[in-house]
Amino acid sequence: MEKIKECKICINTTKNPSISINDEGICNVCEHYNKYFKKSDIESEKEFIKTFITNKKYDCMVGLSGGKDSSAMLYTVKEMGFTPLAFSFKIGYNEMSESVKNKIKRITKNLKVDYEIIDINNYISDIDKKCFKGMSDLYEENISEEFKEKFRRIYNEGRKYYSTKQQIAFPFVRPCQICRKIAIKAYYEEAIKRNIKIVFVGINEWASNKDNKYTAIRRLKPFENKPEVYIVHLPFLVSRKYDDLPKILEKIQWTREKGDHEVDTGGSACLLARACEKKANEIMGFHLDSARLSREITVGFINKQMAKEAIKNGNRESIYTVKEVLERGGII
Ligand SMILES: [Zn+2]
Repeated sequence: MEKIKECKICINTTKNPSISINDEGICNVCEHYNKYFKKSDIESEKEFIKTFITNKKYDCMVGLSGGKDSSAMLYTVKEMGFTPLAFSFKIGYNEMSESVKNKIKRITKNLKVDYEIIDINNYISDIDKKCFKGMSDLYEENISEEFKEKFRRIYNEGRKYYSTKQQIAFPFVRPCQICRKIAIKAYYEEAIKRNIKIVFVGINEWASNKDNKYTAIRRLKPFENKPEVYIVHLPFLVSRKYDDLPKILEKIQWTREKGDHEVDTGGSACLLARACEKKANEIMGFHLDSARLSREITVGFINKQMAKEAIKNGNRESIYTVKEVLERGGII
């Protein structure tokens, strides 16, 4: 059996089929970033984004979960000179706790920012529902060697189906892949509805194009005759470091929730992610969030130790099964 290798920089391992490790012990993601990322690329993007500052009621939307990253993001967006509308998406299977609601109220009041909860259940298409149903059925199956094989195959294919524009009823292993497709539709339509061009999100995400140029921006233009909307991953745009957060969070009176860790996996905020994490980890041999956390190490947002800690905390038993979470939410 081949030996499992882990990247010297991040927590990616060769258990993940999309990861390879070079002779120096560095994974393909870190290698590419270290070779091609240029600070000047995002500096010019920041200038471009600032051209959307207007004196309208709102010139951007800012996704706010009440967590550290998004709360600090709201502060930074205001500092940049924007007049944001802060918002949280509400989706059937997740309920925001009263204490998080109160925290958001406090933060937005301190920053003098308007806030809305936007129900995105209407954006769940029949195909999305079939994806959820397929995922639910998959997680109901008993673990056998044959099932593990199938699970891994679906994981691999999911990466392909996630990035196509085509709508396919596919039983994604990662709930975030279905959810993100729904969120993208909602970002676009909700921004268009308000005549807004920029939606800031707190995920430290990026892409690199054919010329190996790095970008923090995703341009959405699904319809020829309708304007475009830009999704901006603010942490990447401003090269956010974890150590930048405490000072900002103190200014806006952000407080930790009971049970919060320094860094968490998706399962800490999402019941559906929580319901998937343990079984997927057991079968795949790596945590579903390890690629995301690795990317945060690659860009220097957190260190390896923090990511490992998050994975350890994130590998908890869920109270509900995937099926139960989705049924309770009225999705399937
Ligand atoms: Zn790496």
